[in-house]
Amino acid sequence: MSQQNTATADLDDDDFYDEDDVDCWCDNPDIDLLEGRASCYQCGRRWWLTNEQLSREIELQAALIECIEVEQP
Ligand SMILES: [Zn+2]
Repeated sequence: MSQQNTATADLDDDDFYDEDDVDCWCDNPDIDLLEGRASCYQCGRRWWLTNEQLSREIELQAALIECIEVEQP
């Protein structure tokens, strides 16, 4: 779990919520495995995952679940 917030050198607080200039990396999207769709809560962008991305996400989720189950008493 890595959450990196790159420090921005230029401070432009005025147009922080400028819709025409969305500068979002979408590096932490919400992923709906059932629908195969990803959505970014930061900029509201939504897109479909490719089969390759989807199977990779499913593997990641499965690995996470395994880890959680192992930690259970
Ligand atoms: Zn985004």
